[in-house]
Amino acid sequence: MKVACIDEWKNKDGKNAFGGTCLNAGCIPSKALLESSELFYRATHEFKKHGIKISAPEIDVAAMQKRKAGIVRQLTGGIAGLLKANKIEGLQGHGRLLAGKQVEFTPIDGETEVLQARYVILAVGSTPVELKIAPFDGDKIVDSWGALDFTEVPETLGVIGAGVIGLELGSVWSRLGTKVDILEAMDDFLFMVDRDIAKEAGRQFKRQGIAIHLGAKMTLAKATPKGVNVEYETADGTQKLSVDKLVVAVGRRPFTDNVLVKDAGISVDDRGFIQVDDECRTGQSGIFAIGDCVRGPMLAHKGSEEGVMAADLIAGEIAEVNYKVIPSVIYTSPEIAWVGQTEAEVKASGRAYKTGSFPFAASGRAKAMEQTAGMVKIISAQDDDEILGVHIAGPMAGELISEAVLAMEFSASTEDIQRTIHAHPSLAEAVHEAALAVDNRALNFPNK
Ligand code: NAD
Repeated sequence: MKVACIDEWKNKDGKNAFGGTCLNAGCIPSKALLESSELFYRATHEFKKHGIKISAPEIDVAAMQKRKAGIVRQLTGGIAGLLKANKIEGLQGHGRLLAGKQVEFTPIDGETEVLQARYVILAVGSTPVELKIAPFDGDKIVDSWGALDFTEVPETLGVIGAGVIGLELGSVWSRLGTKVDILEAMDDFLFMVDRDIAKEAGRQFKRQGIAIHLGAKMTLAKATPKGVNVEYETADGTQKLSVDKLVVAVGRRPFTDNVLVKDAGISVDDRGFIQVDDECRTGQSGIFAIGDCVRGPMLAHKGSEEGVMAADLIAGEIAEVNYKVIPSVIYTSPEIAWVGQTEAEVKASGRAYKTGSFPFAASGRAKAMEQTAGMVKIISAQDDDEILGVHIAGPMAGELISEAVLAMEFSASTEDIQRTIHAHPSLAEAVHEAALAVDNRALNFPNK
């Protein structure tokens, strides 16, 4: 098929780039900084234990940011190369869906033109939610993109929202020496995560010195020449906090502003999400919508699988996305990763279940790595032993979860993992042991 891809992303240097939020301002730059800050933290706190003597390390923020920018540049340039290699026309500018599958394209510099398509895929993504009482000013009160671009380590940082972004970016700057306070409106910490895992992760963040205030409702955020004065309410009354920078990370909203004309006939709900069915079809034949601008978790891998599904369906192939088996990862230390249902969700479903867990403290590989915080927890059905959920907090959790995802994609039972040989010594043995523990057959940890 003849394909054109319209994208209007502009970086802060004024240059257009493909790759959207993930490559330019999200997943990739944040992982680059998480890696740099983790190495700095380990050099400061762990090298001594390994017998490595160094004088106190210093962080060169400019060099760290340069490395990050280089990675982003390589990957976004890679997309431009892939578009070319696949003979896809990359059009930089704004796209807007008109009636009759026509797309209005306004280039960065040039005349607006109208393209006629047989099929259209809307993949406009999401943008940070802004709070009226703390509008972004690009300097002191910033969104996640701003918090990835600090040019020096702030002494103090306030974060609104202890979700994925708040915890990841809070971790980056905390590891580099910033005093981080996170205000979370909910009383539960990481409500979407299995309780045992959230509890363990919360304990580790506290040990790292990250202060997480639950049930905290911000009532004031005022930028001053020195920083930001914040006031918030908790059960104990009004609290005050003064910080150098404030990051607002209270969620993202679909970026569907000025993308659809009314006549295009696409339904959008009151939160801005484009309405689609399980196959990402909008109400209009031949028009699909995928990724953050439609229902489901705002995750790059979910969006890209939906894109593959839409393309396959357009090509007349059979395709589907298994929404029950989408992994989630929070790249903190310990990393948090999960797939399937939490114990609370299984309990609420009424299905009889069994659980098993294994702590990394009992893993030889984790000990050798000096990374013993966390655990693996597996939940399976009592009747047919089907794996219902796997939850990990610990080293490389984001990699380890793939085994669970594959197992669940194949509708594996816990016994299937129990009978699978895992290399020794490896972190993956913790997954094996947790599976064994489900049936009280753990070998390297006392059973229940
Ligand atoms: P989130 O939904 O993960 O967390 C937002 C948090 O802010 C919630 O805990 C919420 O209770 C809290 N909150 C909301 N309003 C508040 C208020 N007024 N005061 C205090 N707390 C408030 O959202 P996010 O962290 O902004 O991330 C946005 C999206 O991006 C998410 O869907 C996330 O999955 C995705 N993302 C994913 C990754 C990853 O996969 N590793 C990384 C970054 C972002």
